[in-house]
Amino acid sequence: MSRRYAAVLATALASGACGGDLTPLRERTIAPSAPVAAPTVRVTWLGTAGVRVDDGWTALLIDPFVTRVGVGAIVFGKGLTTDPEQAAIVDTRDVAAVLVTHSHYDHLVDAPYFAEQADAELLGSLSTVNVGRVAGLPESRLVAVEPGQPRIYGDFTVTFVESLHGPALFGRVPFPGAIEPRIELPASASEYKMGGAYGIVIEHPAGTIVHHASASWIDGMYEGVQADVVLLGLAGRDDTTDYLAHVVDATGAKRVIPIHWDNFFRGFDEPLKAIRAAKIDEFFATVDASRPDLSIESLPLLQPRTVLGG
Ligand SMILES: [Zn+2]
Ligand SMILES: [Zn+2]
Repeated sequence: MSRRYAAVLATALASGACGGDLTPLRERTIAPSAPVAAPTVRVTWLGTAGVRVDDGWTALLIDPFVTRVGVGAIVFGKGLTTDPEQAAIVDTRDVAAVLVTHSHYDHLVDAPYFAEQADAELLGSLSTVNVGRVAGLPESRLVAVEPGQPRIYGDFTVTFVESLHGPALFGRVPFPGAIEPRIELPASASEYKMGGAYGIVIEHPAGTIVHHASASWIDGMYEGVQADVVLLGLAGRDDTTDYLAHVVDATGAKRVIPIHWDNFFRGFDEPLKAIRAAKIDEFFATVDASRPDLSIESLPLLQPRTVLGG
């Protein structure tokens, strides 16, 4: 990865000026709901593809990434490390597992920190496990996932499903390859190589959520899965109709919550802005034209919302 390529990549990702009108997302924000006795699952969006999923007893963190840095830090290869003050915005109570869909820094960089804080397992590819090990997590809490093999945390059953990373930059996967066991931390963005991508199926008595962070797929990957809601990564997708067919229609879900659409080079103290690669306007135009029955809902930043049950 040359520095020049990193610069082009960062600039392309950061140019959010044409990122689209956020009105359709704002209008669809899920409202707070009163507590009910039935099993419910709440989701808190942490920005980018990050979410906390909890049912009041057990919680999962998926791709929790909150140590945001500006484009300059990416271009100049700054070592990325969790800022505990920033990380404090994430509720780590009851977290049993930290799940990582792929090893790019905007998914992985803070995951070992949260696993450490919460005494939780870290699950992901071998690349993710390599980073977790160097970060100091004990072997007993590192889980290199086997696609299709469910793991149980409280009332949640979690299954990683093999997928592909979207063509996020000029038709290419940025930072391809795997992270070696001898990676030195802190590492720069370009050292957080992709390492294999997964969708995650989260089953619960209240229903089933699919978390699909990266905007590509393997044909048939969700065969046999029946989901209520898909948390759908928008950034870096190619054809929206194909994407919806293989990832949303394939699961039978009638509800979609967009994730990974915001400009993650901006701090949490700045207003949300879309990243150009999320093509927000085109997404809504395509859904309106081709999927009138599909309900698109959005999550506010850092506020839990009931997504299943209730
Ligand atoms: Zn990625
Ligand atoms: Zn990403």
